[in-house]
Amino acid sequence: MRPYLLAENNWKNLKNSKIELAILPWGATEAHNFHLPYSTDNIEADFMAAESAKIAWNKGAKVIVLPTIPFGVNTGQSDIYLDINMSPSTQFAVLKDIIEVLNRQEIYKLLLFNSHGGNEFKSMIRELGLIYPKMFISVTSWFKTLDRNKYFDDPGDHADEMETSLLLYLKPELVLSKEKWGEGKEKKNKIQGYSEGWVWSERKWSQISEDTGVGNPALATKEKGKRYFKDVTKKMAGLFCDICDADIDNLYE
Ligand SMILES: [Zn+2]
Repeated sequence: MRPYLLAENNWKNLKNSKIELAILPWGATEAHNFHLPYSTDNIEADFMAAESAKIAWNKGAKVIVLPTIPFGVNTGQSDIYLDINMSPSTQFAVLKDIIEVLNRQEIYKLLLFNSHGGNEFKSMIRELGLIYPKMFISVTSWFKTLDRNKYFDDPGDHADEMETSLLLYLKPELVLSKEKWGEGKEKKNKIQGYSEGWVWSERKWSQISEDTGVGNPALATKEKGKRYFKDVTKKMAGLFCDICDADIDNLYE
């Protein structure tokens, strides 16, 4: 039993314990090129959060990882078979219910551990922060913690070399053999501003990619996945410890 995972812990252990920080991993259920499982983001969230929490726990941090929420915002993939969308307003309701429990039980620190690019929590956190002023709610996306170019030769955006490397390391039995991998070629918007990133509209996924991937996975290896995983979780563990130690009424110098 890993005591830092709520799903594995028990009432006997937990009823008298004092948790400092709750961590809520949030994934998605969606196609990842031809070759990766629909639960790719959830697998990444589960493994990343558990390993980071393990390192932090062993340094004395009282953290608890809540079960991963398996559905994310997939509004741009409505025509991709069995991509499951959870709308932002539903996410808000789920998040509010969880925060209501934490707040009532005086666990005032919550970290959203995001694993899917379509999930955006900042505006929800602003709104919920006003409703629950004692709560200190943060969000991090593990895939933004490190410079991917230092770990991968051709990093992309979705089901790319990075995600394929991670899955080859974490769940190789769920990755199709290499000759079945798509190239993850992305069609760019004809209007320049969109490619430059200073104007945004939702991408119609089935129109920008033939295989649902964005980024070529061809150079993925298990070793690259392992190296990246180790460094991300080490950095995340440091964050967990820092938030645990922080006095939330005295954060700024
Ligand atoms: Zn993904």
